[in-house]
Amino acid sequence: MKQYKARKGEFKKFENNSNRQESRQKRGYGKEWYSYRARFLAANPKCYICACKSSVVDHLLRARGNPEHFENPENHCQLCASCHGKVTGMFDAKKDQDLEGKLKYIRKMREFYKTSHPIKIVKYRK
Ligand SMILES: [Zn+2]
Repeated sequence: MKQYKARKGEFKKFENNSNRQESRQKRGYGKEWYSYRARFLAANPKCYICACKSSVVDHLLRARGNPEHFENPENHCQLCASCHGKVTGMFDAKKDQDLEGKLKYIRKMREFYKTSHPIKIVKYRK
């Protein structure tokens, strides 16, 4: 038990991410997703927040727990790895996602970076 206690923080982190045990494929990240992802990032090459190179398709309403919005193109947003890391860590990783806080933060950061480019919608299936 002592040993467990010492590693409690670590274990807790693991516990919060327990859904990650589910395979990416099962969560919807299959062939179709990767094809869509490439088309979406080609249409949206600049991070929605800071305008540097986009490399991640973020699910605004997180896909975990909301599988019906996984493929919804209106739920997607192009981000760079850095912005995605921040947004995910601050708002999506919590037990209950703080969507309102996330959208507010994105708006605020777009003001900070003075970016105004839109999110171009791309059809999920060709
Ligand atoms: Zn960015």
